[in-house]
Amino acid sequence: MAGKKLYIETMGCQMNVLDSELVVGQLNGRGYTLTDEMTTADVVLLNTCSVRDHAEAKALSRLGSLKKPKLGNPDMIVGVIGCMAERDPDGITTKMPHVDLICGPGELNKIPAMIDEIEETRNRSISLSQSLSRRSTPIERAVEYDSVEALDLSRSAGIDGNPLQAYVRVQRGCDKFCTFCVVPFTRGAERSRPPQLIVDECRMLVDRGVREITLLGQTVNSYVNQDDGKPVRFAELLERIDAVSGLERLRFVTSYPGDFTDDILEAMRDLRTACEYLHLPVQSGSDAVLKRMRRQYTVGEYVDFVDKAREIVPGITLASDFIVGFCSETDDEHAESLALIERCQFKNIFVFKYSERPGTVAAKRITDDVPDDVKRRRNLEMLHVQEQIAIQANQNLIGQTMQILVEGYSKRAIKAQVAETERGQEIGSEVTGQLVGRTRTDRIVVFAGEMNLVGRLIDVRVKAATALTLHGEVTGSHDPSCGTGDLISINVS
Ligand code: SF4
Repeated sequence: MAGKKLYIETMGCQMNVLDSELVVGQLNGRGYTLTDEMTTADVVLLNTCSVRDHAEAKALSRLGSLKKPKLGNPDMIVGVIGCMAERDPDGITTKMPHVDLICGPGELNKIPAMIDEIEETRNRSISLSQSLSRRSTPIERAVEYDSVEALDLSRSAGIDGNPLQAYVRVQRGCDKFCTFCVVPFTRGAERSRPPQLIVDECRMLVDRGVREITLLGQTVNSYVNQDDGKPVRFAELLERIDAVSGLERLRFVTSYPGDFTDDILEAMRDLRTACEYLHLPVQSGSDAVLKRMRRQYTVGEYVDFVDKAREIVPGITLASDFIVGFCSETDDEHAESLALIERCQFKNIFVFKYSERPGTVAAKRITDDVPDDVKRRRNLEMLHVQEQIAIQANQNLIGQTMQILVEGYSKRAIKAQVAETERGQEIGSEVTGQLVGRTRTDRIVVFAGEMNLVGRLIDVRVKAATALTLHGEVTGSHDPSCGTGDLISINVS
């Protein structure tokens, strides 16, 4: 097995990023090394997303480009893993007969055995989790948590090669069945990991140098498991992780508005590590649309929650998701979404044009009747409203000093800066040689500094701001008594 090369490409959400890390961890342990060269790899895995049609089309196109290399090297193993594998295995094998391995997101621990089987038999191997039962309650399911999570203790630390940050899964699946969403069908029933397993994994990651952990779940705030027969809910889980010595920052995504309880907000206020940032997808500012989406809250309840979050957690920032052009969305309903954005003053939003997904309730029962050009226009309008809010909010921060965790050179920040410059938002600084860090409230700060700042908590003063990025200068210096790699907070007068 030694010397074999693995190419893996990840599409979609943070869940997939984490899943890919876990798969890489498993295959590293079996002698595979990662390569950037797709066409010459021994095993090529595409970790796919089914949330939008566009994502599946991209995966199919990548698979199509592998036909020739596979013809030239029949021993190459081509695999599709993740949501698209679970949602449409027959479609994949019909359109892409050169695919050898199809594995759903709940079965990833089987990949090494599947590769062995393919090498031995040269037959296609398929593993799906369609048998996941919804008959039991979330807490009953949690107790029989699937074996996939054993993987997480053998994982490598770090997100996208950044050793300071890591994702930790606390929950799989979803029971909400929003009418537009394919996730309950591809990722199965909601089940939460045992709290001790999560805390152990966080401790292991911190021992390996991780300073910031982001907990992942489809509706992370509805986490529930048990310990000694007593329920452990999300606020208590946060408390237990907060006690991990050496951890500096704790975040979580994604929260479901209807399930958010006050004790979680109080934990965010009181816990040393809990960051003042909340990603809370609302999807629409119209009650009628929310009803068609089967979201289990009203706009009024959402706004009340946002107000309460700001009252309980001082300085908190909020981000949200919106879908534009959902079935029969009118101009008035769209205007209600714009008004909600103004009302809530989000730090940022993610806007998606509705795309019908096969198998969902919306695909079966509601017509996707908003023309694409209308969806596109609404998308742009929404982004424009948000951009004005973000520019204003960020410019209000000019002159303020903020604590950031320095992450290193960030491709994303560089790209954002290039995009802003191209749009005429010249901020007058060089892209290259700049470091990037993040505030507790999830604002990205770019600044000039030495690489030895990476991994440190430092203070920066904001000098300039665009909608996406703050630009700052370091306002302190290293404590010379600190050993290399120690985390320090520089207090600036
Ligand atoms: S809460 Fe709704 S949108 Fe989120 S994963 Fe579950 S079904 Fe999908």
